[in-house]
Amino acid sequence: MVMGQEIDGLPEGEGQGTIVDEVEEYIRRLAAGLPVDVGVREDPHSEAAQARALELTLIHYQQFVRRYEDARPKDFYVDRPTRWGNPHRRAEPTADERRRVVLLFARDFATKSLAQLHEEVETIRRVIQNGGRLSCRSCPPDVCHGQVWAFWALTGRDPLKPAPDSGRGSWKPRP
Ligand SMILES: [Zn+2]
Repeated sequence: MVMGQEIDGLPEGEGQGTIVDEVEEYIRRLAAGLPVDVGVREDPHSEAAQARALELTLIHYQQFVRRYEDARPKDFYVDRPTRWGNPHRRAEPTADERRRVVLLFARDFATKSLAQLHEEVETIRRVIQNGGRLSCRSCPPDVCHGQVWAFWALTGRDPLKPAPDSGRGSWKPRP
């Protein structure tokens, strides 16, 4: 594999502002001395902001997830009632709620034992290595909890924690 090669199947921009766009707009207006009420009402520590940050972190992993209806033989079903399903259900059928329950799902990984984490993530890794995708009945085309599985399987990291090379803070992976 060529380093720096583009990953196929990345989703194109959806013409929808992200929190990054909002923050950039906020900084631009602040620097220009303009009123800064541009819709940035989210506290960056709020659950909604964290859920949107996670969605951005997971965006490249959308290619490893498929709608259940489109599943192929090598694919692996990760929805309820399997142990790979997301036990958190949306209170209402909105995209914000989808992001929120995916965040709750990602947080649950902190409560798994190392043995459980390894076993579950290893299963997902083998599926993806074998050319399979994760199929889910609930989420796609919205952000899918399967993207959390794919992130763990392909990076071995928690998507809720900064990347070791992100330059943020002095976080270093433990040996
Ligand atoms: Zn899903």
